[in-house]
Amino acid sequence: MTPRLRALAGQEIDAIDTPALVVDLDAANRNLQRMAEFAAKHRLRLRPHAKMHKSAEFARLQLQAGAVGLCAQTVAEAEALAAGGVNDIFISNQVLAVGKLRRVAALAHQLKTRGGQLAIAADSFEGVERLAQAMQLTSAAIDVFIEADIGQGRCGVTTPEAAVQLAQLIARRSGSLRYAGLHAYHGGAQHLRTVAERRQALTEAASRLQRTREALAAADLAPPLVTGAGTGTFSIEAASGLWNEIQPGSFLFMDADYLQNERDPAQPQFEPALFVKTQVISVSEQHAVCDAGHKSHAIDSGLPAVHTLPGQARLAFANGGDEHGVLKPLDYGGALSPLPELGETVWLIPGHCDPTVNLHEVLVAVRGGLAAGRVEAVVTVEAR
Ligand code: PLP
Ligand code: MN
Repeated sequence: MTPRLRALAGQEIDAIDTPALVVDLDAANRNLQRMAEFAAKHRLRLRPHAKMHKSAEFARLQLQAGAVGLCAQTVAEAEALAAGGVNDIFISNQVLAVGKLRRVAALAHQLKTRGGQLAIAADSFEGVERLAQAMQLTSAAIDVFIEADIGQGRCGVTTPEAAVQLAQLIARRSGSLRYAGLHAYHGGAQHLRTVAERRQALTEAASRLQRTREALAAADLAPPLVTGAGTGTFSIEAASGLWNEIQPGSFLFMDADYLQNERDPAQPQFEPALFVKTQVISVSEQHAVCDAGHKSHAIDSGLPAVHTLPGQARLAFANGGDEHGVLKPLDYGGALSPLPELGETVWLIPGHCDPTVNLHEVLVAVRGGLAAGRVEAVVTVEAR
């Protein structure tokens, strides 16, 4: 099935059919530049997470800005990135299914023949043995990062001893596996609202990581590389000196949830770059209705914020169901904002970027701003 295009390159913004997921390329590029500068200044490798945009096009943009490679969360994402020309990929997740591990082996082989490399995380003996078994299918080796749980309570070994035992096993399988270091990401800390809460969570995480690093070093298995961090906390990981590589994803597009975080002065400022373009399809005395509901944007992290362009009504978004959004006027300066008019364009900032992108076949990339810009490209979300 060919995707129904919502816009064509060269068209004016007005011509983009709604609801459409639109990326402000100027804003995304500024976000990328700021992150790349931060990483360079702190001598950190930048490996952005592609689970956010799921697109080889944006991955290539990130490589051009100085990223060493990309992270993927699934085998399918890694395959899509590789097909789009990305040569250095880290699957930052646990993969246990034999069929998937065979695809991992094939991908490692493919990337090696192109002069690239594949890495993957592991947190169990079973996972490492199955990976080693699958890698027998190829002459390529794969980098393995031991995932350490540093506080999120998701995947990862929970004790330094378990990390040492796993590193020893990986070393014994050195024909097909290369011990690459530690993957230590604290997802639970990213959206803690205040800087103090995030620093507190990462202080505890860093001391857990430090104990694991020391145990590995004592066993002659000092991690060659430690990777982790997300958009909410990467400056704290940077300041700790314990991480060599950061893997933030959301910073490129941002979302309403991240925009509600208290800003850490140690971090560069990121701006919203991902929007749902909607049209007002009904207006009553109290509210207006736009043509975007939760089939256009994920609501797991809250409803979208309404983005106000100069001269536009100030509005709050209320849930109207699958295909509708209810727009209510906000109070400003003691008076209620006027409502938008029938047919008018209203821009939403999704609550959560990653699952929102996953709802769309394409991203409409615009240049020159939302008010007066043009469509530069229609980018396929290949890995959805
Ligand atoms: N690394 C891992 C392992 C993740 O799961 C995620 C996101 O959940 C990220 C990095 C990127 O985080 P963020 O999009 O918050 O920057
Ligand atoms: Mn996310």
